[in-house]
Amino acid sequence: MSRTALCAPNLRMALAGLARESVHCGLNQGTSGNVSARSSEGFLITPSGQDMATLTATDMVAMEMNGEVSETGRPSSEWRFHRDIYAAFPEAEAVVHAHSPFAVALACLRRDIPPFHYMVAMAGGVDIRCAAYATFGTQALSDAVLAALRDRRACLMANHGLVAWGRSLPAALALAREVEALSGQYLNACQVGQPVLLSEAEMREVLEKFKDYGSRA
Ligand code: 13P
Ligand code: ZN
Repeated sequence: MSRTALCAPNLRMALAGLARESVHCGLNQGTSGNVSARSSEGFLITPSGQDMATLTATDMVAMEMNGEVSETGRPSSEWRFHRDIYAAFPEAEAVVHAHSPFAVALACLRRDIPPFHYMVAMAGGVDIRCAAYATFGTQALSDAVLAALRDRRACLMANHGLVAWGRSLPAALALAREVEALSGQYLNACQVGQPVLLSEAEMREVLEKFKDYGSRA
């Protein structure tokens, strides 16, 4: 069986749909951002430098975990942090990276999102960290992202954007959208004063409740 045959056509279609949806829901525009999905041999990822709004199944690029491209096509320049997330988190089935307006604004201030709202726990912990800055497409950026993702499913990226992973494609997109919403809410609150933060104990209680809350990430 050829390598290409191992990549389910349905997964290609679903990933292209996820890429387009990331534009339609306001997370991305133009060539900004990228998305990927775990496959039987490694992962599928969006191509580099193409308009996310017009991607189709055949544009998706198959990669192996060693970074080799399984077929023709130029993978997203950010394939390293996508690959490293799949390697570090066995439960990760999809990754969404976005340059969404509020997340970028907060990431340019290099601020973590503190527990100002209980939904911060959706990313898996008491806060959502902002990863240190590194040039896009580098291993240094992947290392910074992975450090910020310790015990988390999402983080901001300094002067860049956000990353979220999920146990399914919709879960990864839902978490990315939630991080964008939280970024806007936190920025709004900060304009009026210093938001009152929830305590560690209050957040632990929320994290406990989230273990069986709906079908979230
Ligand atoms: P790609 O087009 O190579 O995926 O790059 C977009 C991006 O968001 C880089 O961080
Ligand atoms: Zn980016």
